Amino acid sequence: MTAVSADPSAAPETLRVDLGDRSYDILVGAGLLGGAGRLMAPVLRQKRVFIVTDETVAGLHLGTLTAALDAAGIRHDAYIIAPGEASKSYATFERLLNAMLEARCERATTVVALGGGVVGDLAGFAAAALLRGVDFVQVPTTLLSQVDSSVGGKTGINTPFGKNLVGAFHQPRLVLIDTDTLGTLDRRELLAGYAEVVKYGLIDDPAFFERLERDGTALIAGDEAQRRAAILTSCAAKARVVAEDEREGGRRALLNLGHTFGHALEAECGYGGTLLHGEAVAIGMVMAFDLSARLDLCPAEDAARVRAHLAAVGLPVTPPRLEGARLDTDRLIAHMASDKKVAEGKVTFVLARGIGQAFLTRDVAPEALRATVAEAVA
Ligand code: NAD
Ligand code: MG
Repeated sequence: MTAVSADPSAAPETLRVDLGDRSYDILVGAGLLGGAGRLMAPVLRQKRVFIVTDETVAGLHLGTLTAALDAAGIRHDAYIIAPGEASKSYATFERLLNAMLEARCERATTVVALGGGVVGDLAGFAAAALLRGVDFVQVPTTLLSQVDSSVGGKTGINTPFGKNLVGAFHQPRLVLIDTDTLGTLDRRELLAGYAEVVKYGLIDDPAFFERLERDGTALIAGDEAQRRAAILTSCAAKARVVAEDEREGGRRALLNLGHTFGHALEAECGYGGTLLHGEAVAIGMVMAFDLSARLDLCPAEDAARVRAHLAAVGLPVTPPRLEGARLDTDRLIAHMASDKKVAEGKVTFVLARGIGQAFLTRDVAPEALRATVAEAVA
């Protein structure tokens, strides 16, 4: 890092993800997009990139990126997809790969994903498949993608049989996180990403959760130092788990805290915007702690703190009603049983012995689960 600098963008904070010869850096700072050419240059195999972004992000941030690439003498093409989950499809994947081939991308060309998790997952998978694999750089622009999807190397698309069922593990060569891009994100999307930030504290970092209880409101309101610190802590947490368990045999499953409940809620509510993923995870984390308390694994005060903090920042903590009707307990439980993480008929739950003490278990008494779900939807 530069010793003294008046320009914060000149000295991003760096975090190394250790994965042997696939190790990479995560750079975090304000205004990094404006220096993207210089920051990316060391990992490029040729002075040429192929950018993938969506219409919304293109309108807000693509110009800054291309200007920075021009300034560094890096040639660029761009492919712009429609915003939204529907773009993580076979059809978009095919069009994108054809556009890359039409632009005569080479093995040494680097794919740059500029956008949220949709762009990152799609572009990363395209990079994994193009010419049997080219390098890619993540430039995540949502809080969720900055703290979660851009780190870890999972890429992919959705299918008629379920979300994220076709894809590849393909690690980026670099992750460039410009905290300024969050300035254009709407509050609801920001909060959804914040739920995943809280998750890292709840899994194994009680001091981080305490910090969020104190500073979370400032972070959400736009405090750059708080945002930068929380993103760094979150990426370090995810990187640590991924380095220990790159392909999800064990520990990586802890990252699913709140997700078994959350996925069931998302499935019941449909993916039409009633619940964003992070909102479902917030409710799911509350339910996981309530279940843990009900099973006497976790102090009731800890479950209450989780609920209180998420509610205080404006996240939902109880399942929504659909057209006035409460969600159906049996249907939610049935969704959990069909989750793709089920092995030999048993659902793996992430429960907690307290804040920062999450663990995996496949023995949850069905009556306790039912009682927790029934109470949540009541
Ligand atoms: P997203 O990519 O759909 O972005 C949300 C919305 O914000 C979009 O409309 C987008 O156009 C807009 N947007 C993005 N950046 C913006 C900015 N700076 N200013 C204004 N608007 C902006 O959604 P997401 O929440 O970032 O990501 C969700 C996706 O990530 C899902 O498909 C999910 O499956 C995936 N995901 C992947 C992993 C992984 O490990 N690969 C992990 C978690 C989630
Ligand atoms: Mg998630």
